Amino acid sequence: MDQGLVFNIQRYSVHDGGGIRTLIFLKGCPLRCPWCSNPESRKKVEPAKWKKNGKTETIGEWRSIDELLDEVLKDEIFYRTSGGGVTLSGGEVLMQAEFAGEFLQELKVLGIHTAIETTGCFPVERLKKITPYVDQVLFDLKIIDRSEAKRVIGLAPETVRENFDYLLTQEQVQVIPRIPLIPDYTTNERNIQQLIDFIAERQIKEVHLLPFHQYGSSKYDYLGWEYAMQGVSTLTQAEVAVLKEKFETAGISANVDGLE
Ligand code: SF4
Repeated sequence: MDQGLVFNIQRYSVHDGGGIRTLIFLKGCPLRCPWCSNPESRKKVEPAKWKKNGKTETIGEWRSIDELLDEVLKDEIFYRTSGGGVTLSGGEVLMQAEFAGEFLQELKVLGIHTAIETTGCFPVERLKKITPYVDQVLFDLKIIDRSEAKRVIGLAPETVRENFDYLLTQEQVQVIPRIPLIPDYTTNERNIQQLIDFIAERQIKEVHLLPFHQYGSSKYDYLGWEYAMQGVSTLTQAEVAVLKEKFETAGISANVDGLE
């Protein structure tokens, strides 16, 4: 796979992995999280269109591995001095697993730290193509209840579980669960307890919590899509602190970090 469909590149990020990083966002995601802040990344691996300020724009550009390497190597000095590297995000990285694996392999040859973000929503074979070249996986855990996960985001929790547990057998990979804190959807008492149980059963001691925000809301207008989270308030600091405390009481260190 010579080319990947990329819809954004963000340099100098201090989220989504350690140190200073370049984030590369790959197009395509089969899920439908109502709170998604990158709706332009969803659906197929093909360019999307939206209308912004009266102008039609194409989202997504096919980029070769060499082009992307040129781009990320501009900041190699920052990766080395800060303990950073390159993170593949999305969308869902596993939609372009073959391309991602080849690109990550090149980065590893160059000695660059690699991370991916995933929801683990595909059969584990896709993840296996990437894993040998990944240092860190930021693994989104959202809704644990099977029927709720299917109804709300179109995700099969048993597939998530299989991917997650496979990663835990890979000693060279650091796995960090990331939990979007979405009012009602993920923050209800039952789901939070199920998430804590899931993580504690696996003896994982650290999670990242990503509080809900409204930064992606205008994108739904550009796409002409309905936005289910219109007008929903963000969590207060006190509400986030209560949720953080629940994880920490269970012996899980919870960093409030990043953006969902
Ligand atoms: S998994 Fe991520 S990219 Fe896909 S719909 Fe959910 S929030 Fe959006």
